[in-house]
Amino acid sequence: MLFTDFQLDNRLLQSLKHMGIDTPTDIQEQAIPVALAGKDLMASSKTGSGKTLAFLLPAMQRMISTRALSKRDPRVVILLPTRELATQVYSQLRLLVANTQYKAIKILGGENFNDQAKSLARDPHFIVATPGRLADHLAQHHLHLNGLELLILDEADRMLDLGFAPQLQAIHRAADHKRRQTLMFSATLDHTDINNIAAELLNSPEHVAVGAANTSHADITQHVYLCDHLDHKEAVLSRLLSQDEHKQIIIFTATRQDTGRLADKLAKQGFKTAALSGDLNQGQRNQIMDQFSRGLQKILITTDVASRGLDLLNVSLVINFDMPKFSEEYVHRIGRTGRAGSKGDAVSLVGPKDWRNFENVQQFLHKTFTLSVFDDLKPKFSGLKDKPKRTKNTSSTVKKHKKTTNNKQKSKNAPAKRDKRFLSGVDVGDAPMLRKPKSPLQDE
Ligand code: ADP
Ligand code: MG
Repeated sequence: MLFTDFQLDNRLLQSLKHMGIDTPTDIQEQAIPVALAGKDLMASSKTGSGKTLAFLLPAMQRMISTRALSKRDPRVVILLPTRELATQVYSQLRLLVANTQYKAIKILGGENFNDQAKSLARDPHFIVATPGRLADHLAQHHLHLNGLELLILDEADRMLDLGFAPQLQAIHRAADHKRRQTLMFSATLDHTDINNIAAELLNSPEHVAVGAANTSHADITQHVYLCDHLDHKEAVLSRLLSQDEHKQIIIFTATRQDTGRLADKLAKQGFKTAALSGDLNQGQRNQIMDQFSRGLQKILITTDVASRGLDLLNVSLVINFDMPKFSEEYVHRIGRTGRAGSKGDAVSLVGPKDWRNFENVQQFLHKTFTLSVFDDLKPKFSGLKDKPKRTKNTSSTVKKHKKTTNNKQKSKNAPAKRDKRFLSGVDVGDAPMLRKPKSPLQDE
């Protein structure tokens, strides 16, 4: 099947040609016809499988082929959990609108509110936004959504994790009319919170799922190294980095503090390294992502602020320096490599304090990992038994991280419960302006 087989406007086909894209991916093949038929849709497929175009193309087509419901209101709103992701989707959208008369803007947390109000007053057709900031503008009547035709929620589950349900509901209520269509996308769309919000926002949606989130991703080779403590993790990390067969590398840590500390260490070892965390201001965040995507640094160290959606085609290795709390996040993190058919490696360093999260990932993936080992860096640690208490005081890793982890480790046997106290507002700036102060428990 080719894109020309869909009923798409020639200008869109031209844009695709310019992008060098001619054959739809599986998710595009399945989702685009449903979306073009005007139906509500919940769609999931693995990371890097082209979900963005699966919603942008039908959105563009709908603009081109139907008359606007309102002259002034935006016709399409696309919501994303982080500013980086919104920026990336916005750039893809720009390529598609370039050939047309349509206006697209982005409305992100952390940028000038009044400037945004001005650009909203110019009646854009498309808005790409983070939900908190858009809801703020809505509350100020800087835009009206009575004429909204298409609402798209990308990485919908992450938006809920971040505590954006009230903003999504406010946006939905402002645009609650019969002719609105709603599309929801993610690589992981299978927990109950999602079903609740979907029941509220979507109208008898069709479900399209290409492969389950927990089926293995053939283009990503996954490795696991057990580690005794922080120093051991760092030694294994140095070894991995010294092998240097990778173009660019992303390293995920549990907390912002770890991000900075590790970045300093690696910079001292001579690696071109950038650290991205949610506590930087937006200018800094943009600059870091921009430089990294242009290849100016080899290594990006970050937290889950960058686990979702970012499409960085030169990343061939993802390292979990710490395991993520939520198993879905593992899928999103490793999905920063192996995109659009290229191959990648994912390495997880599992120490005693990662063990429960690691077990949860194995359970989520229905997979038992084979362990890798460097002969001269063999671990003594071989996993924890069922008694979770033993994590305490098992190693220096636990001690060194005590402050930031002891509260998170409470329910060690159960899969981590989604607790907004840990998550809301984490990807700083995407949350509403009047956000409650962060709890000291929060990290990224
Ligand atoms: P996802 O949202 O599923 O993680 P993206 O939409 O970010 O994936 O797409 C991943 C990459 O694949 C992007 O670089 C995109 O340009 C590319 N891509 C998308 N659709 C196609 C296609 N049909 N053929 C080739 N490459 C594609
Ligand atoms: Mg995506």
